[in-house]
Amino acid sequence: MDIENKINEKVQNVPLINYRKCSGCNKCIDVCKQNVLALKDINQDTNKSRFFRRRKLKAVVQHGMNCTSCGLCSSVCRHKAILIT
Ligand code: SF4
Ligand code: SF4
Repeated sequence: MDIENKINEKVQNVPLINYRKCSGCNKCIDVCKQNVLALKDINQDTNKSRFFRRRKLKAVVQHGMNCTSCGLCSSVCRHKAILIT
């Protein structure tokens, strides 16, 4: 298997997070021993002044290559916001 296929295979197995459902509760981040996920303010990169910007904390995939597809993050999410593809 060449390196590109290996990368694609890994990318396909990382969690997909539905931001509409994610409440930013941090449970998936706590449970992941591989340090794949992190909490991020997804509004921080907008052009709005910080006085008008509301923080919107969501779980994001930070180190997707480390994911072992164990499914723990998905199982602890009460909002069913994580899909392991
Ligand atoms: S457990 Fe679910 S709701 Fe909580 S931060 Fe993770 S994805 Fe969002
Ligand atoms: S599937 Fe397992 S390794 Fe991958 S992000 Fe979720 S808890 Fe971490």
